[in-house]
Amino acid sequence: MHYEVICFMIAFYPVFVHIGILKSLLLIVYGLNFRFCLRLPLCIATVLILFAASASAQTLLQDKAILFPEGAHTCSETKKAFSSDYISIIAGTTAEKLPARVKYYHLDFDIYPDQQLLSGTSELVIESFGDIDYVEVELAEAMEIHEILFYNDLQAPLPVTFTRANSNQRYIIRVMLPQTQNAGEVFSLQFRYSGTPVSSGLGSFVFTQRDGKPHFWTLSQPFGAREWFPNINSPAVKADSATVVARIPDGLKLGSNGLLVSNDLIENGRREWHWHTRYPIAHYLISIAAADYVSFTDYFHYSENDSMPVINYVFKGEDTPILREQAFVTIELLQLFSALFGPYPFKEEKYGHKMFSRGGGMEHQTMSSMRNFSRALVAHELAHQWFGNSVTCAGWEDIWLNESFATYAEGLVIEHLDGEEAFRNWRLGLLSRITEEPEGRVYVPSEQIDTLPSARALNRIFRFRTTYLKGAMVLHQLRVLLGDDKFFDIVRRWVQEDFRFSSAYTSDFIAIVEEETGISWTTFFNAWIFDTSFPVYDLNYSWLPVAGSNATEHQKYIYRLQASVNASAGNRTDFAIPVEIRIPAADYGPDSADTTITVIPDTKLLNIELELPFKPGAPELNPNLNWIVRAGSVSSGLRDDAPDAGISARMLSPYPNPFNDRLIVPVSVLQNRTQLTIDVFDITGRKVAELANEMRSTGEFIISWDAGTLSSGVYMIRMQAGRDISVKMVTLVK
Ligand SMILES: [Zn+2]
Repeated sequence: MHYEVICFMIAFYPVFVHIGILKSLLLIVYGLNFRFCLRLPLCIATVLILFAASASAQTLLQDKAILFPEGAHTCSETKKAFSSDYISIIAGTTAEKLPARVKYYHLDFDIYPDQQLLSGTSELVIESFGDIDYVEVELAEAMEIHEILFYNDLQAPLPVTFTRANSNQRYIIRVMLPQTQNAGEVFSLQFRYSGTPVSSGLGSFVFTQRDGKPHFWTLSQPFGAREWFPNINSPAVKADSATVVARIPDGLKLGSNGLLVSNDLIENGRREWHWHTRYPIAHYLISIAAADYVSFTDYFHYSENDSMPVINYVFKGEDTPILREQAFVTIELLQLFSALFGPYPFKEEKYGHKMFSRGGGMEHQTMSSMRNFSRALVAHELAHQWFGNSVTCAGWEDIWLNESFATYAEGLVIEHLDGEEAFRNWRLGLLSRITEEPEGRVYVPSEQIDTLPSARALNRIFRFRTTYLKGAMVLHQLRVLLGDDKFFDIVRRWVQEDFRFSSAYTSDFIAIVEEETGISWTTFFNAWIFDTSFPVYDLNYSWLPVAGSNATEHQKYIYRLQASVNASAGNRTDFAIPVEIRIPAADYGPDSADTTITVIPDTKLLNIELELPFKPGAPELNPNLNWIVRAGSVSSGLRDDAPDAGISARMLSPYPNPFNDRLIVPVSVLQNRTQLTIDVFDITGRKVAELANEMRSTGEFIISWDAGTLSSGVYMIRMQAGRDISVKMVTLVK
């Protein structure tokens, strides 16, 4: 489903970080500017250097393969871990126990737009999941029920009794069965009913006019199907197939799901439209819309010898060459999405659009309902055919599984068709909107659906800022953490393998991520799906030239950065994302450069000290726009009066630099009993030496390091003392 929204506008920098083990903090320094690199004795174009803070993080960095250790968890183990470690909010939504499901909907309608009347004969073929004496379906009270018939293979149609009750916004019809139906038994209920459908929720069933002729349309998500046909009102189970037959005034075209079986003129100037889908379908994705449409068909060649029609029913008054061109983009998007997500799920039937007079669009299976053909809307509803229609959220609590993916797919279209910069701008738009308010949970707690009046529940389910935008950025964060290959492997497994044509819970998606990576993602999903906040950084910086620098060597600067991190709401400290802070050069001369540091904090205050080979400027938070964070304040001049306040130890400039084989690293310990670790990393992020790992008392000392057999090049000396980190770059020349 898509509300009318402003479309925001790619830089993509994969950062390979194992989030599960980042218990303290991880500092990544990379991106020495190319021009600066040229000045170095041994240079590479891009420098990616990782510094691990904790012993476990160090292990990670020694070998990237450790990001995804094989066989660490079995599926059942991850699910077990899920139930105990994840925020309890999900506890209420594990498998909804339905007593039965509808295997097949055969919906037959006589529709009289002038009288706004609908007369229906709906047959539900039902499979019992247990021993049941009655079945509860929903049908709104505006529909008068004339008769309900029970029958099965052995029995002729038999009228049955029923009761009607409204409870908590539900319109329950309890149908008493003539005999107990045991688990696995299949029987049919035929409902004969009529009335004027009420337009509830997002529309449900609307009679209106278009181009001087009658126009009617349906939009049943999430609760509206009951306004026009009886159904078991849960997305958790799907029918195997569905048929829609509708007799309407001749002169109108009626679009629906699947393939058009027949379209025959009958008596009294009326025409019968018969549509049928052989694919599994959730009840809320069944739809009809009729108007004095003009139809045109494009073709999607999904393989060398096979093609599928893309059928468009557009309002006669809006059928223009521009609109047809806009609609034709669907073919390009089908190609893109097939490449990213795997084959279009319903290729044996069709895809298509039918215009309706409601704003936005709705992803009705195989034929979306559209107000216009903006590329973003076409992309969104098309993406839903994979996310929402093939794999459907099992509960409305899990609606982000539909909407976040469809929204992120809009971003992927921009990335692939418009380029990196446009995708970057698109993320900027999302981030601005997401962080406008301090709180917002992606997951919808059950009580916000079950106990609220349905209109409020609906607003909560489809809350744009969280269900759509934040969820989409959470997927982007996941992609950056996993890298493209792993991310899209997971997406394809999700939609093409484990949950194809099925319904799934948030826990199912997390289980696949955990199984595919072999690690726990508890912190990540708790922070970003089940919890409400995001990190806000207050940055405070100062710098000074290194004493002793002279005209013959490049001027160096000590840069001190304090990052104070707080949750936008609540007191969460761990968000499991590596947030970059870029330190640009203050002036872009021939020697300019910049450096990006990445911090994953779980402390509230970080002290970082870097030695930089350029005059630095103000720090920029999240320069790549990959993370849901907000800069609270950026100020210069460290907050504390004494420049050393809070700093437990300081690494002074190692010397000589460049060095030949022996390097002296002076360290000043400012607080008693400081645990120090000093390590050396090469430019690939590989740890090549450990210089210290010990408790130290106040005072100064030096470490002498013999580089031994290491080859010439740039090395990073990294010291961590408590939560303080210092980094110095040195050059080995042999
Ligand atoms: Zn949507």
